[in-house]
Formats: sequence, C-alpha cells, structure tokens
Amino acid sequence: MSNNDTVEVTFLGGLGEIGRNMATIEVEGRLAVVDVGVLFPDAEHLGVDLILPDWSWLLERADDLDAVFLTHGHLDHIGALPYLLRDLDRVMDVYGTRLTIAFCEAILEEWPELPTPRFHEVEPGDRVEHGVFDVEAVQVSHSIPDGVAFAIRTPEGMIVHTGDFKLDQSPLDGRPTDLAHFARLGDEGVDLLLADSTGAESPGHVAPERTIGGTIRQHLLEAEGLVVVASFASHVHRIQQILDAAVAVGRRPVFVGRSMVRNMAIAEELGYLDFDPDLVVEAENVDDHDRSDLIVISTGSQGEPFSALSLMGAGEHRRLEVGEGDLVILASSLIPGNEQAVFRSINNLSRRGCTVIHGGVAHVHVSGHASREDLVLFHNIVEPEHFVPVHGEYRHMRAHADIARETGILPEKVFVCEDGDSLLLTDGQVTRGSGRPTSHVYIDGLLDDVGPALLRDRRRIGEDGICIAIVTIDTQARRVTGDTVVTQKGVVFHEQAEGILERARQAVDEELAGVAAARFEDTAAISRHVVQALGRFWRAETGRRPFILPVVQEA
Ligand SMILES: [Zn+2]
Ligand SMILES: [Zn+2]
Repeated sequence: MSNNDTVEVTFLGGLGEIGRNMATIEVEGRLAVVDVGVLFPDAEHLGVDLILPDWSWLLERADDLDAVFLTHGHLDHIGALPYLLRDLDRVMDVYGTRLTIAFCEAILEEWPELPTPRFHEVEPGDRVEHGVFDVEAVQVSHSIPDGVAFAIRTPEGMIVHTGDFKLDQSPLDGRPTDLAHFARLGDEGVDLLLADSTGAESPGHVAPERTIGGTIRQHLLEAEGLVVVASFASHVHRIQQILDAAVAVGRRPVFVGRSMVRNMAIAEELGYLDFDPDLVVEAENVDDHDRSDLIVISTGSQGEPFSALSLMGAGEHRRLEVGEGDLVILASSLIPGNEQAVFRSINNLSRRGCTVIHGGVAHVHVSGHASREDLVLFHNIVEPEHFVPVHGEYRHMRAHADIARETGILPEKVFVCEDGDSLLLTDGQVTRGSGRPTSHVYIDGLLDDVGPALLRDRRRIGEDGICIAIVTIDTQARRVTGDTVVTQKGVVFHEQAEGILERARQAVDEELAGVAAARFEDTAAISRHVVQALGRFWRAETGRRPFILPVVQEA
C-alpha cells in the first residue's frame, strides 16, 4: 500500500490488448476506477464468452474504493461493470455522461439482483469532487457520442486520461474534441498524460465521420435488391448517416440484432438520433414490403458467429434471406483478432450472391481513434510532463511512445506499461511502482470464471484429442479387478484405433501390475499411474499428447 504522499495509478487492463480497459487511481489511500471494460475472446479462447480484468487485489481493498468514472459507453470500457458491482456487492457511485449511463442501465437490466449503482451524470466542463477525487470532464469525439476525457487533479499533480478519442473537428453532433480545453489544461500543467494509442500506427489524419455519408448514399442509389448495412450497435453517428441516406433514397429501415434494436431505441429516446420512428419496419413485417424498399441495419460487423449478419450469410436467419442482387455494406472497422471471422462472413455472403462492400474496398468507414498526425498535434497541445500510452496492443503503444518523444517529451519520462504495472506520482514526478499481480478472468456463459487451466485443457483436446481409460479396482483386495477399457476421440483415425487401443490397454495393465499393493487404497494415486502410462504410450506411438481422462472406479 502506498503512503499518503503518493498518488498511484495502476493498470488492470487495456495495455497490450484492445479491450478490458481499466485503471485505478489512488489518492490519500482512497481509490477510484476509470473504466471497467471487457475483452472479446478470439479463436484461441475456446468456448469463452468474455474476458475481464483481474481485480482481485481491488476487492481486498473494497472499502477504500470510492467511485467509478466512465469515459464512454463502449463495452471495452463499461462491459465489465455488472461483474465488478457483483463482486463488490454494494452500492457504488458511478460517474458518466448521459448516453454512457443509459447504456450502463440497459446492460444492468439483465442483472436485476445487483445493487443498483448511484449514477451521477456529468457533462463536458463539469468538475466534480467526490471525497478526495477532483475530476473534470473534457469533451472528446469518438465513434460513439458523449465521450469524455478526465482531468484528475491530485495533491501530487494533474493526471489526464483521454479515454478513446479522435480529433474530428466537424462531427455530426457538433461536439468536437475540445482542443481549447486541453490547451488550458496544458497551460495549468499536465504532469501525467494517459492517451489512446489505437491509431498510433496509422499515418496521417482520420477523415471526418461525415465524409462517408456520401459513399453510402451512392451505393444505395445503385442498389436494386435488399440492402443490409452492418455497423457497431453503439455507433450512433454512423447509423444516423445510414438512416439519412436511406431517407434520401426512399428506403425504410429495419433494425436487426438485439443490441442494435435496444441501442437505437435508447439513442432515439434521448435525442442522440434524429429520424422518424414511424418509418421503422419491424423485422417480423419485412415480408409485407418490397425488398427494394428496405434497408436492414444489422449487428455482426465483426463476424460474431450468432449475430444477425453471420446468420444471414449462413442462410440461417429466421426472417431475412439474402442472395443474388442484394447488397451488403460493412460500415465498420476490422478489430485486430477478428479478421478470420469477418472474412468468413464476407465469403459466405459473397457465395450466396451478395455484393459485399467493406472498408477495404470503399470509403465506408473511418476510425474512431486519433491517428499519427492527430496524436502529434494533440501532444503538442497538451505538452505533458510524463506520458503513458494506453489502449492498444504493444505495437500501438510503442508507436505512441515514439510520437510522444518526437514531440519533445524527455525519453525517460515516457513509460510503456503493461497490465498490472503501476506508476507513482509524487510532487509532479513519475516513477514506476511495484504493480499488482494480474491475470485474465475468463467468463464462459453460466460457468463464470473458468480459469486458464480449463482453456489449456480445451486447446489440448482440440489439438491432440482425448483418451479415456476406465479401470476397476478392489481397494480391499488391493488389486485391479475386471477388464480395463480404453477409448479415444480425435487421437487416431477410427479404423486404426482397434489395434492401438488394445496396446494402450495393455500398457495400462502393465503399469498397474507393477504398482505396490498399498497404493490401490488410493484411487487418485492409481489415476496418476494411468495418466503416466497412457501419456508415455501415446507419445511413443503417435508423438501426440492427448488429454487423458482416467476413470478409476471401485468394484
Ligand atoms: Zn471506444
Ligand atoms: Zn476502447
């Protein structure tokens, strides 16, 4: 635990990966959290639904935790909130802007048993004091409305956390990143800047969001069949442009996908989306309309297997069929790690005869994250004393660190950190702290935290198959009784199996014949012998290491 003269920033997630963003800030022995996000698993996380930050040390200090501050409503920043609230099991104070809070409330509707947090709405420019925490919200533009950065003034100096941001100066809502506000903070003196690194490798500036509206409209004008546009369900401005284009060409929108339907209802109700809700056609009524009069606005832009778009590609969607003459637009980014799934989706749709337009072939997407030249400008405006690149894979953080040094920060004042690292801020100076032990927490549906061991088992079963041995022993007589049974799946070809399984069975029997009689009183010890014998056997016979499941039963 740090002493009271030190401010400590600890990174629990988001450094080295795009997702599960979370940091804690400790001031005078009290703790605040900035963002509580999830990470979506990729192909190597077999069967895992979500990955969370590991906040076990924070739970040990749960009484010191005063508040949660949320930068914006993306799931990589708010998606783990219900899990944190569940683990804390008490009412928390949570700060965020209006749309961010609305998206949190929608998520929490699915968790009715949790203690409802006390939500505090902040607007850009607001400066809130909560206990020892003095936090000011700064307006930023991003791929979701209502994003903010936080300037946190502490007795040891000022910390600025950008959240996710880009420098779009003509956004659809007229809410650009407030560079004048950042300049004022810079004049006051930013001792430690934590800034979004996602776009640090991308050259140049990010084009304004409004530049893609024209492309989408052009494609709609040329389309003859059904049009499906996939986008992130939280990208309100992207969907606004799709809706505007739809109105311009006389097509009526159909929202498809649970999160899309839910978020658009929230955004429309709160006034973030401007369109006539009477135009919307419900998904169950699409057959009452001519296909060329409709535009389906769908989830699934990342190739998620059970999303509306993937189901359409597979011909398995309950209501919507796509095929020859239809147009599909993926108006979305390609998040690193999702490439395979997205390309599979594009190929499936193409095979059905659809024309598929995506960011790789047309201007239907712009990034939500400041790119290289944007970041150069931003650093020159903020002029921080110390800098930590956050929100990125390692390569993005490295690139961002280079940008910081090129804009004049002393090399020794740039800290490239990873999850679990901490930094100490004392009298305006930053040094490395001792960090916290951290890992990944894997959520598998109702199983909850399944742990890395289970994933290793799944990977091994997937790669080398599984071998099951059933041994019956008599613990009284201290010997094997009855026949040993060995069976397998995925280790060897079915036709080859018989002979090899017979030899495997013999290997088990030989092993057990050599075991001292006293050991037969302990079924766990016999299980270990079975695993050893079969491990040796399969390695020698096939060079493989199947997952071995011993079943030792007492007669
Ligand atoms: Zn974001
Ligand atoms: Zn993010």
